[in-house]
Amino acid sequence: MGAVARPVGGGIQADGASGLGLRPTPEAATRREIMGLMDQNASPSVVFKIEMVVGEHTLEGSARVPDGIMRLADLLPILQGFDDAVVGVAADKVTEAGRTISCQAGCGACCRQLVPISRAEAVQLAELVEGMPAERQAAVRERFRSTLAALAEHGLLARLRRPGLLKTLTARRKIGEEYFRLSLPCPFLEEESCSIYPHRPLTCREYLVTSPAENCREPCPDTIEKVPLPVKFSELLYTFGDGFGAQASRWMPLVLALEWAARHACKEPVFPAPQLFGNFLALVSKTVKKAQVQRAAG
Ligand code: SF4
Repeated sequence: MGAVARPVGGGIQADGASGLGLRPTPEAATRREIMGLMDQNASPSVVFKIEMVVGEHTLEGSARVPDGIMRLADLLPILQGFDDAVVGVAADKVTEAGRTISCQAGCGACCRQLVPISRAEAVQLAELVEGMPAERQAAVRERFRSTLAALAEHGLLARLRRPGLLKTLTARRKIGEEYFRLSLPCPFLEEESCSIYPHRPLTCREYLVTSPAENCREPCPDTIEKVPLPVKFSELLYTFGDGFGAQASRWMPLVLALEWAARHACKEPVFPAPQLFGNFLALVSKTVKKAQVQRAAG
């Protein structure tokens, strides 16, 4: 398993072709058009060719990144599309092995878990809410408010606001269990479906199970069988706030997104977009290669 990515075509492109599409081979006829949320006609732009091996599949595709300055939050549509393609191939692998993905629209059991998100995703979600029509925005904000009030009432809010207390896996598991026991639906969950599905965080995209859906109502490591992924973009993003992937892992629960963004979004750094995407792909490549070495050693 490995990943390579490189800018092509001399860098600047301005022909308005597709943004990011990944194509698994050998099923070459099945092209995964996964980029639809960023301005694909941005001009000038830089095209990256991507090749990533996942088991017997090879994802091939290209990404068109505007040749300008942007925040990491602005790059998220491309990263989300890329993540969907990786998750899609991983899901294909398990279904080819005879198992069935249990996750379906209308099952929101996992949407009562503590959902970790990166700072960039907090900014994106806050801007998404800000752009909603007034009535819907008020309803979503009220759900955030009531969820935070419930967390405060049960003594979790202060701990969640201090991520330094959640550095160990044991601490994170413990608070995750406490959070889930409160059965607080995500503020974006409506009629047991995600109301912001195209914009949902990477963690949500990466959570697919083959265990029975009812097991997700009482999740524990023994009863939940997740689709294994070669790389989790969500976790890479926790370290990528510096634009390089060299910083300590930083995340927050989704329910803190609006309050965090209200205080910090205006301070988000900007980067040359092609460099930012190239750095993220380098991080993916490094991580996937490492996974391959580990498996070979095992
Ligand atoms: S963002 Fe959507 S998918 Fe993620 S937890 Fe909330 S409702 Fe569920």
